[in-house]
Amino acid sequence: MAYKINDTCIACGSCESQCPVGAISMGDGKFEIDESKCVSCGSCAGGCPVGAIESD
Ligand code: SF4
Ligand code: SF4
Repeated sequence: MAYKINDTCIACGSCESQCPVGAISMGDGKFEIDESKCVSCGSCAGGCPVGAIESD
C-alpha cells in the first residue's frame, strides 16, 4: 500500500513538510508522492485541506 495525491490537489504545499522521509515534492501542477520513498505512515493525509491524499 502506498499513498497517492489525486487531481483535486490545490498545490498548497502543506503536506510536503509533514512527510518524515521527504517523499512529497511539487510535480506537474500538483504535488506528488514518490512511491519508492513513501513508508505509508499516513501523516500527510490528515493535513490536506481538500482531502486529496488517498491510500491505495
Ligand atoms: S504516507 Fe507518510 S511517508 Fe508516505 S508520503 Fe505521506 S507522510 Fe510521506
Ligand atoms: S496538502 Fe493536499 S492540497 Fe496541499 S499540496 Fe498536499 S495534496 Fe495538495
